[in-house]
Amino acid sequence: MTGTALVAARPAILLVDDDPFMLDLQSGMLRGLGYADVHASGDARAALATLLSGESRPDVIVCDLNMPGMDGVQFLQALNASPFSGSIILLSGEGARILHTVQKLLRGGRLTVLGALEKPGRPQAIRALIDCWVPPGVVQAPARAAPSITEAAVLEAARTPQWLLHFQPKVELVTGAVAGVEALVRWNHPQHGLLYPDAFIGIAEECGAIDSLTEWVLVHSVAQFARWSAAGLHLPVAINVSMDNLGTPDFASRVAAIAHAAGVAPQDITLEITESRAMSPLPAPLECLVRLRLLRFNLAIDDFGTGHSSLAQLRDVPFSELKIDRGFVHGARRNQIIRPMLEGSIGLASRLGMVSVAEGVETLEDFELLREIECDLAQGYFIGRPMEVEKLPAWVSEWQRRRAELFGP
Ligand code: C2E
Ligand code: CA
Ligand code: CA
Repeated sequence: MTGTALVAARPAILLVDDDPFMLDLQSGMLRGLGYADVHASGDARAALATLLSGESRPDVIVCDLNMPGMDGVQFLQALNASPFSGSIILLSGEGARILHTVQKLLRGGRLTVLGALEKPGRPQAIRALIDCWVPPGVVQAPARAAPSITEAAVLEAARTPQWLLHFQPKVELVTGAVAGVEALVRWNHPQHGLLYPDAFIGIAEECGAIDSLTEWVLVHSVAQFARWSAAGLHLPVAINVSMDNLGTPDFASRVAAIAHAAGVAPQDITLEITESRAMSPLPAPLECLVRLRLLRFNLAIDDFGTGHSSLAQLRDVPFSELKIDRGFVHGARRNQIIRPMLEGSIGLASRLGMVSVAEGVETLEDFELLREIECDLAQGYFIGRPMEVEKLPAWVSEWQRRRAELFGP
């Protein structure tokens, strides 16, 4: 801490809404919450003019969407193109889907969007969003700059190899029992230290290092499974397989040989298939997936609901597990758009005889919702972060304690 005490700064707020009743209601409410500097404008075009002239400099603008003349989307577009440096809260009666879409639209731009609320907006909810406002000059932790990674470095890392594994637990939602772990690769880079897969998997796929990377992960994951088994811990492992691996001749046989050599049953191994690009039109990946399934490996469709992890894939590939992307999981209890999608995906998995797994379970609220809507397995920070192998036994004991709390004795 520095010597200057942080006094919670109160932002200047501008309300933009064509409905005079709404403006009165909101201004009164905000003043009641202790925000003294509140202005209101009934016309977006007029509000824009005063902002551009510098006559008014609000820190936070609470903006309606449906307004005659200049609507909220046009107003925000104009703000985005202006030097305005404050933050935005959307408040509209147009329904959650429209709010969601407008928020997405703004995410790529330079405006800071604190959040969106449906009218009239409960005082506590508005306050919670306003509290996210960061006064100018307050330095936020800089995002970790991704080091630039070259193909040559990735190829070298694959040769040496410089990989290591972290494991993230999954638990059963009916009983709380530990269901297994997912192996997540990291790169112990000689200069940059520990690197996360998003920084190098794409490059590994492009330069052809992905085959040796996947093989390394597979060999080390099954060896780890065998060590845990010997120690009396049954922890089935899931590994991530890139679509590119599936085009490699005899990938399925290679996987089977690795498992067999380690004395590990295919039923204890799950292959999570992620797709960064559209599935190749060649039949090779499909053939490989069918063979893996015939060999009794579990197959998961990863990140279901995003990118190319679609219904068409589900129809064509004999997946045994449906792993719902975290974008449909965290916060679903309070989100009227993603919650039906989450429930629908779980229902779909169940009707297709597949195991449903929710990833990105970050809070007790997420966890409890998943129990209520009968998802099979859960994975996420609420349960446990990806961790080094040495930390797993302690996590297992700690989870048994938390499990008794969450599920009763
Ligand atoms: P994924 O398969 O979706 O793996 C889960 C990712 O979500 C992990 O990131 C994990 O740390 C993160 N995560 C787990 N729980 C939570 C949570 O509660 N909230 C949030 N916000 N995030 C959570 P990580 O380790 O950075 O991995 C990123 C992606 O890289 C993985 O996404 C996977 O697609 C890929 N990947 C990881 N290991 C391998 C590998 O060995 N081979 C291949 N081909 N891809 C890998
Ligand atoms: Ca995965
Ligand atoms: Ca995912």
